[in-house]
Amino acid sequence: MEEHVYPNEPALTREDDAADALVRELQQQAKDAGLWAPHLPPEAGGSGHGFLEYAHLNEEIGRSFVAQLVFGCQAPDAGNAEILHLYGTDEQKERFLRPLVAGEVRSFFGMTEPEVAGSDPTLLRGRAVRDGDEWVIDAHKWFSSGADGAAFAVLMVVTEPDAEPHRRASMILVPTDTPGYELVRRIPVMGHEGRGWGTHCETRFTGVRVPLTNRLGEPGDGFRIAQKRLGPGRIHHVMRWLGQMQRAFELMCARALEREAFGSPLAEKQTVQNWIAESAADIQACRLMTMQAAQRIDDGDEARVEISVIKFFVARALGEVLDRALQVHGGLGLTDDTPLALMWRMARGGRIYDGPDEVHKAVVARRILRSFAEGDGWRFT
Ligand SMILES: Cc1cc2nc3c(=O)[nH]c(=O)nc-3n(C[C@H](O)[C@H](O)[C@H](O)COP(=O)(O)OP(=O)(O)OC[C@H]3O[C@@H](n4cnc5c(N)ncnc54)[C@H](O)[C@@H]3O)c2cc1C
Repeated sequence: MEEHVYPNEPALTREDDAADALVRELQQQAKDAGLWAPHLPPEAGGSGHGFLEYAHLNEEIGRSFVAQLVFGCQAPDAGNAEILHLYGTDEQKERFLRPLVAGEVRSFFGMTEPEVAGSDPTLLRGRAVRDGDEWVIDAHKWFSSGADGAAFAVLMVVTEPDAEPHRRASMILVPTDTPGYELVRRIPVMGHEGRGWGTHCETRFTGVRVPLTNRLGEPGDGFRIAQKRLGPGRIHHVMRWLGQMQRAFELMCARALEREAFGSPLAEKQTVQNWIAESAADIQACRLMTMQAAQRIDDGDEARVEISVIKFFVARALGEVLDRALQVHGGLGLTDDTPLALMWRMARGGRIYDGPDEVHKAVVARRILRSFAEGDGWRFT
């Protein structure tokens, strides 16, 4: 990170051809160093050794927003690779997973639709209908992150309309060169349109035909697979947020010590001291909670409560720590001369994507209350 990533950060975040070439060069270095795709086990083409170890590694990777791309564990490709590894047929693995893990192509995950609440995917309207040995897909998606330049979509659409709500949808692999697929636009998000991996796109599928064999898993498995994907995916985000908080914290402390105003360093102002103390406590609480959740996953538990707790808790803490760090930097904090402004902008989405805060809180409360109602009570173990 210190030798190769931080010094190249300004160039990497420029999102031009030179940045693409630099990413490829750094990716090769990560591969040579045996650090490529640490979220995946070696048999799937990665260098991973379990969730807890990945948590520590991902915290370091998260310190720089672009580093996930350098190490081949960026969202949404990391999650897509995991479900292809778990549910893909041999043919799907050869055609989609192998080039994805090798970093030769990128993918996107198309679930959310502008017309219905993304928080409640039982409302999905996108459809795939069997016609002979093909699916015919009609769907309108948005917030398809990374769709610009992606080679294929993992698309969540209704395939079993008569089943109960959580068995209606399936995931289907759709190459983006299939006729009828359209990238409508790169949606400007908080003043940033971006290109390539850094985009959030509106996409449309009109009469798109793919073979029936492009379905991932069994009919109606979409929710089950999404849960498998989003559970670890959420914790991946949280691990990276720990790194961002830590880096912002270090920048805040350094700036507080060196910057003087009204006759003393900022470090001697009580308000700034409060921010530093609160941030230290936030980071430590978040880190311990995240490591505990990672440990539970390593032990084979789904850790649904733990994952939802850290998803909303760390997203809030991330926003607050970044905000304090930015404030201590004054005007400099708003410029792109430090990584803080980018991190601050990206952090806001964390309270919405992969389930808004409110939905995770509802999940936590429901599960804990159910456990009490069944006489088991609840405590973190
Ligand atoms: C940066 C970013 C990247 C994303 N990337 C992807 C992607 O790659 N692929 C993809 O498919 N989607 C992606 N999404 C979409 C994301 O998953 C949805 O935005 C999310 O599921 C919320 O859906 P929605 O936007 O339709 O909000 P809605 O469902 O309309 O919810 C709006 C608000 O209602 C409130 N709310 C909802 N449910 C409840 C409840 N039960 N109790 C109380 N309040 C509630 C919450 O405050 C919520 O923010 C991304 C979103 C962002 C911001």
